[in-house]
Amino acid sequence: MATGTLSIDLTALQSNWKALDALSATETAAVVKADGYGLGAGRVAKALAQAGARQFFVAVVEEAAPLRAALGPDPVINIFSGHMAGDTQMIADLNLIPMLNSPEQIARHKQALPHQPYGLQIDTGMNRLGIEAYDWSPEMAAEATLVMSHLACADEPNHAANDAQLKTFLSMTAGLLCHRSLAATGGALLGPDYHFDLTRPGIGLYGGLPFAAAQPVATIDLPVIQTRTLQPGESAGYGCAFIAERETTIATVSAGYADGLIRAMSGTATLYAGDTPVPLAGRVSMDLLTVDITDLDHTPETLQILGPHQTVDQLADAAGTIGYEILTSLGPRYKRITK
Ligand SMILES: *Cc1c(COP(=O)(O)O)cnc(C)c1O
Repeated sequence: MATGTLSIDLTALQSNWKALDALSATETAAVVKADGYGLGAGRVAKALAQAGARQFFVAVVEEAAPLRAALGPDPVINIFSGHMAGDTQMIADLNLIPMLNSPEQIARHKQALPHQPYGLQIDTGMNRLGIEAYDWSPEMAAEATLVMSHLACADEPNHAANDAQLKTFLSMTAGLLCHRSLAATGGALLGPDYHFDLTRPGIGLYGGLPFAAAQPVATIDLPVIQTRTLQPGESAGYGCAFIAERETTIATVSAGYADGLIRAMSGTATLYAGDTPVPLAGRVSMDLLTVDITDLDHTPETLQILGPHQTVDQLADAAGTIGYEILTSLGPRYKRITK
């Protein structure tokens, strides 16, 4: 079998949720959008429910179907994108709580499903989703389960936007009796002022920054298909981008940009043979990587690209991106195992 193995450590995932939960005195939800940040929403949500999570968030109603099937009827499933045309049946059938983002969505929801609970998302300065201050009146929240907003710069604790958004959130929600939520992973780390009644961490659960204390959740091991020796001057891979300067052993490994090991890693990423780092040689192909293993004293059966020696953020750094993008790009081709 040539597919790579993606191991998902559900115990580490649960520990991360508990550690984030312990940061606040209030309830901690779990964001499992984009198929649980690429790791499998159903499996991830079940483990988080076992750890104690009672509320979940996804981006769009379609993501809620596998989630409801995995979780059963009781846990709350909230929808960030609110109530779009065509969503009504699923919201009703799966008992979802849309976070309504505009007066139009409020009207649509109340007309289509007058008895179905809803929350509201308000914009406090990110200008992405949510009801704008000029459309907002606190009476809109009279029957809402939750009023939430999202921080644009929570991963930079000293950014002035954090305090500005907090003040706007406080003034827009002053006097409301319903639950309030402002913090994702980054906001949860900003301290109690940001916690309100519910925090909504995503990336920290899956081992990513800005939750620096997170335990790694995903490990990726890739099989070596073949090795060969290059003489000085010979090249490897597309574009002859790697040129051997010495007698070089190249291991060809099964995974590529179709597996989320994006092309921007070409020439910069590092893999590991046990504890020993080995550099990627040349360009990332769709299904293959070429790796310089000259300095190893053996031919490994697999090389690791994600694991204890290299976090998802370190790998992302090598490609000029963020851990979120690496995880959500991994794709369907790995053999997925849980431990
Ligand atoms: C994705 C998202 C979250 C979770 O964010 P993380 O940074 O992954 O913790 C929370 N709230 C909203 C509105 C989101 O879009």
